[in-house]
Amino acid sequence: MMYWADKFALTIIKSGKHKPYWCDDMKTPSGRIHVGSLRGVITHDLIYKALLDQQVKATFSFVIEDHDPMDGLPIYLDEKKYQKYMGQPLNTVPSPEPGFKSYADYFAQDFIEVFNACGCRPKIIYTSQLYQSGKMNQGIKKCLDKADEIRQIYKKVSGSAKPDDWYPFQVICQKCGKVGTTKVIDWDGEKVTYQCLADLVSWAQGCGHQAKVSPFNGTGKLPWKVEWAVKWQAIGITIEGAGKDHMSEGGSHDISAEICENIINYPVPFALSHEFFLIGGKKMSSSKGLGSSARDMYNLLPPQILRFLIIRPRYNQAINFDPGSNTIPDLFDDYDQYAKFFYQKDSQSDFGRIWQLSQIRPIPKNELFLPRFRDVANYLQLPSIDVYQKFEEVKGGKLTQDEKKILAQRIKYAKIWLKNYAPKDFVYQLTDKIPLEAADLSLEQKNYLKQVIKLLLTKSNQDWQPEELQMELYNLSKKIKIPVKAAFQAIYLSLIGKTHGPKAAWFLLDQDIDFIVDRFNQVQTKLEKTEKYLYQIVKKPDIFTIDNAFKAKYPSVIVGLAIIKGVKVKIKDERLQQEIEKFIQAQADLTTSQIGDYPQIKSYRKLYKETGVDWHSKRPSPESLLRRLAQGKGLYTINTCVDAYNLIVMKNRVSAGAFDLDKIKFPCILRMAKTGDKITLLGDKKPTFYHPGEVAYFDQVGGYNIHFNYLDAERTKVTEKTKSLFINLEGIYDITREQVEKSLKEVVEIILKYCGGKVELVGIVK
Ligand SMILES: [Zn+2]
Repeated sequence: MMYWADKFALTIIKSGKHKPYWCDDMKTPSGRIHVGSLRGVITHDLIYKALLDQQVKATFSFVIEDHDPMDGLPIYLDEKKYQKYMGQPLNTVPSPEPGFKSYADYFAQDFIEVFNACGCRPKIIYTSQLYQSGKMNQGIKKCLDKADEIRQIYKKVSGSAKPDDWYPFQVICQKCGKVGTTKVIDWDGEKVTYQCLADLVSWAQGCGHQAKVSPFNGTGKLPWKVEWAVKWQAIGITIEGAGKDHMSEGGSHDISAEICENIINYPVPFALSHEFFLIGGKKMSSSKGLGSSARDMYNLLPPQILRFLIIRPRYNQAINFDPGSNTIPDLFDDYDQYAKFFYQKDSQSDFGRIWQLSQIRPIPKNELFLPRFRDVANYLQLPSIDVYQKFEEVKGGKLTQDEKKILAQRIKYAKIWLKNYAPKDFVYQLTDKIPLEAADLSLEQKNYLKQVIKLLLTKSNQDWQPEELQMELYNLSKKIKIPVKAAFQAIYLSLIGKTHGPKAAWFLLDQDIDFIVDRFNQVQTKLEKTEKYLYQIVKKPDIFTIDNAFKAKYPSVIVGLAIIKGVKVKIKDERLQQEIEKFIQAQADLTTSQIGDYPQIKSYRKLYKETGVDWHSKRPSPESLLRRLAQGKGLYTINTCVDAYNLIVMKNRVSAGAFDLDKIKFPCILRMAKTGDKITLLGDKKPTFYHPGEVAYFDQVGGYNIHFNYLDAERTKVTEKTKSLFINLEGIYDITREQVEKSLKEVVEIILKYCGGKVELVGIVK
């Protein structure tokens, strides 16, 4: 695939019709110039450069139409001040700011500066000078001579009917200086007679003057569709397109082309119609600083990135740019990718060529290290990080002078992005609610925050100096003997939900003090609540552990443990049967799809899926029990221990298992199965091999259940002979510690109720 501009260059050269190659674009500087016009300049610049790359001579010009009348006022200018200039040529209206020749000059210079920075350096031509130089004279004469034919062209091409006394020329009134208000009423071959009319246009008022004057050398102007054609000839333009609004059928370009060919007798330049550049999204508000002018975009993106944004799509694809969210970091990423493509793959492929054409400086021979934009933005928020040093680490060597310049530029634009457009979760800012991450704060961290509140309240925000507060925060951690890192983490976790953040004192003083105090207080009460767990964490590796590899892969896993000794297990108990029957009756309307909607069941199924267990054929134990009810199959009666805890399993949908303690050889472990691990399941004679990676309980003899909570081993099953119980409950994903604890409590209670015994150990392993 050849890049479109290169294709156009070849087409232009092959046609042989557009020599000498003179590429042009134009704009009326009636106010801040829209970024869509920048697309126009860059589009023409690409064709110009593509021609040069074909080793042909070419010229590129840009026409500032400063001769046009002021026919409207941008909202950012004072209407009272400018009202009197309405109708005057823009180059005779005073500049909004000192230091510029005119209103036209002011806005033109601004735009020229932007496109120059974006690598476009066309020769600048002003229409006022073009008229004054006499280069338009020949065309003006032809047009006035053939006014009738031009009227017919308008009628034929666009359907617009001009009155019979209409001439394609407007004089700049010699009395009031306005051009928008005058009407030529006669042409004698040398001079035009004109009137300056009070009500020719709604936006300006003429003075009533009438006179006769030569139309040559800058005394007036052609209407722009006529002017466009005359300009082509006067300058010698052979290539000029425009935005699609001018290129529609029956539109401006069609009229100009017809006049060019038939009135001026000049070949119509090669034309292309380029698409719009829209700025979308709601984040366009002027308070955020981004309007839609070329200058606004230039303030937001480095010039080569802006250029890249414009030339990446085909010329006839619309650009809809929304600076919000991650658009800008993504754009930088794409740019960096294209650079890699240029250097490492194919410099003349579309990607490589687009990157090459995006460059505004000579292209370095060797690929440069490009610091990733979003990383730059991230590091900028961390005052402890030296961004330059950090990227030397990333690069794995010193940054060259050129690379430092690139980094400096990205720092500049990252700051702009962070301030205006970065998504909330990217910027270190206060969370609306207490961050979940703050739930794990330790007692000493909590205490530190309590002391920070006291410290903060010793002065008002305004009286604190950030350096002083930073030092006090540090001293406070020393005083209450908490590691400095843990202390500062407590601040960040409570406010922004991250373990690190911007320099603490500066950040705190930037916020509303009441909010900070409130948040630190809330974090403490929330912590107190979470400390009210039913059971302690059991740390007895000689009895039970969760394998580290499993924990690392599934950090949400939580196990409830109990040891009950001296139990008496019976075949049946009437009261228990009644209790179970009551539950079954309450579940009369239960459906299998309801079961699948329970978050606990979903959590188990998710683990099955993750560990390669088909949950359609092997149901997690709470699910398989409840399914029997839903399908009206009733429950098996095993014994008073198993039946009792199964009732709790069904009620809470948290799986549980009781094992004969005397058959268990400690220590036990919950881990992922390895090749060769096997288990003889309940009722089986022959062992079943585990699939490596699935999760199960193991003691020193072997596995004692399978698929996390699907089925238990024959070896460790509870019978009427069982005297002591080892009980395991297991939660994962959305099953909380509270849920596991509630179930553990109820399992222990119901076993004590129907089997008796004494609880020797109960607790949680995480
Ligand atoms: Zn006048």
